Amino acid sequence: MTTFRELIRKVKAEIREVTPEEAQQAAKQGALLVDVREADEWAQGHAPGALHVPRGFLELRIEEKARDKDAKIVLYCAGGTRSAFAARSLQELGYSDVVSLTGGFGKWKEAGLPIEVPKSFTSEQRQRYSRHLLVPEVGEAGQAKLLESKVLLIGAGGLGSPAGLYLAAAGVGTLGILDSDVVDLSNLQRQVLHTNDRVGKPKTESAEATIRALNPDVKVVRHDLRLDSSNVLEAFAPYDLILDGSDNFSTKYLVNDASYFLRKPNVYGSIFRFEGQVTVFERDKGPCYRCLFAEPPPAGLAPSCDEAGVLGVLPGVIGLLQATEAIKLLLGKGRPLIGRLLAYDALEPSFTEFKTRRDPRCRLCGDSPEIKTVEDLSWSCHFDPTAPRERATVGA
Ligand SMILES: [Zn+2]
Repeated sequence: MTTFRELIRKVKAEIREVTPEEAQQAAKQGALLVDVREADEWAQGHAPGALHVPRGFLELRIEEKARDKDAKIVLYCAGGTRSAFAARSLQELGYSDVVSLTGGFGKWKEAGLPIEVPKSFTSEQRQRYSRHLLVPEVGEAGQAKLLESKVLLIGAGGLGSPAGLYLAAAGVGTLGILDSDVVDLSNLQRQVLHTNDRVGKPKTESAEATIRALNPDVKVVRHDLRLDSSNVLEAFAPYDLILDGSDNFSTKYLVNDASYFLRKPNVYGSIFRFEGQVTVFERDKGPCYRCLFAEPPPAGLAPSCDEAGVLGVLPGVIGLLQATEAIKLLLGKGRPLIGRLLAYDALEPSFTEFKTRRDPRCRLCGDSPEIKTVEDLSWSCHFDPTAPRERATVGA
């Protein structure tokens, strides 16, 4: 019969151990730091950047987390015992460079190394976001990120409505709603944030009421203003990301320029009758709106929004593609639509992707930029006949 003492001595002889400082150094050099403690221990604090895989699930899950069996893995638990057994198990699974942190997280803390305390969720939040918590790419860390995120919706109209509803449902913690209009009966064919009994009320007020009723976690910030060069930078400053659901050229250029100067991702969408487009503009990572559409068309060449019309369900598709891109950017997951423009044709139906490139002659982000600060355009509501595939586009 082997006693526990003998067993742990034997296990420790078969594995390698590292100090907290060595563990930290290895993690900085790209080693996978794995916390094998239970969920309640993890919740009270853990090493920054560590991956949480409780000991009981380690053998089951490690292969999806670490596909390369020669990658360096540092395991830790509370005191260094569970991680020692875990290290031996991983060696048996063929991992060639596994070490265990001697003294565990206790020693890590004693050494004064940084710790991270995850956001704690209320039981109601655990239920509300349970389907997110089950998705590995979201999980607790991702949901906490969403709750701390701030997104500004430009317009509570056709695109802002579906985007706002789903971002609120997803638990994006702060939603700014920028709109100066009141709800009109003709909006209700597509602007699903608003209701019949709110016709005549400010759109921001109506949007706030709908979002409050859907998810009380979300803080709604109303911006009852018409965007111009005097207020755009101040309005954008508090937000992580801008979702452009505006319906006119002057606003789209202004949103583009302000996002560029403030280095905030701009999730762009536009719709026209049966067609819509989505892309993401982010400084230094891809083109800007002006690279694609250098100048608005002459006023006389473009019909007004009222003349253009739009299929009521179309902004639902495009606004939700924008919301999806926004969530991906906030989570830092997936491949954002930067340098790519996705065009949707509802009649076919088809999705077509276009590569977009930064224009070295762009007046904003080109090699010799002329635009140094935000400026107003005197355009109101036209579509651009130079859009990709020579298709016309206009906002919501
Ligand atoms: Zn540009």
